[in-house]
Amino acid sequence: MLKAVLFDLDDTLIDWSGFHGDWARMERQHLHNVVDYIRVNVHPLNDLDAYATEFRMRTMDAWTAARTSLRAPNLGTVLVETAVALGVPSEKLDARRLLEVYAWNAVPGTRMFPDVPGALMQLHRRHIKVGIITNAYQPMWIREVEMASHGILQHFPECRISAADIGYLKPHPTIFQAALNCLDVKPNEAVFVGDDPDADISGAEAAGLYAVLRYSPGQESEIEPSIAQDARITSLVQLLPILDRWFPGWR
Ligand SMILES: [Mg+2]
Repeated sequence: MLKAVLFDLDDTLIDWSGFHGDWARMERQHLHNVVDYIRVNVHPLNDLDAYATEFRMRTMDAWTAARTSLRAPNLGTVLVETAVALGVPSEKLDARRLLEVYAWNAVPGTRMFPDVPGALMQLHRRHIKVGIITNAYQPMWIREVEMASHGILQHFPECRISAADIGYLKPHPTIFQAALNCLDVKPNEAVFVGDDPDADISGAEAAGLYAVLRYSPGQESEIEPSIAQDARITSLVQLLPILDRWFPGWR
């Protein structure tokens, strides 16, 4: 019996196709906030360039290591470790405070896919639980600020999980199990919808969930034939007929 549908966040619920900004420049503004805060409130630290360079190196190293370990990088940890590397005493630093002043929010050019509210309304109406599993390196409370400004947060009252909080990235089974526990459902009672063939589809299937691939029109030729062969969608409108096939009578 179908009890829950879990979703990836980026490029599944939030459309990043309209983002054409300069990521490094945008990130530098956030790091500027952090360096200002540390200088004024914590410890003399003036060199934004040094902080930004150290931060980028540590972030890249964390993601490189994560490719094999699947241990999730954590933005708060990297912000603290960067400051410590530049001589700020660790006992004076609080990751939560640095994340607050970092001030992540919705990225200009991104938006909620317009098919999200309708699909979620259909699931809510049939009392199907919903949740989010994202491979973000930001703790979930920060992504929730962004979700709220996109109008997505209200649709996910129960279960929102970021890899940064769990410590493991999809496709590691631990993060899928955390979401199943959170919603109190078994793997075969849950469907996962995501855009990444490896992290989302192979990961969800290995954890025992049904998996649906959301892809952009025109990208199908790049997808391995074995990935979600009979469960590929370009719009969440197409999700319900797949659920009908897997769980006859669910609605
Ligand atoms: Mg994604």
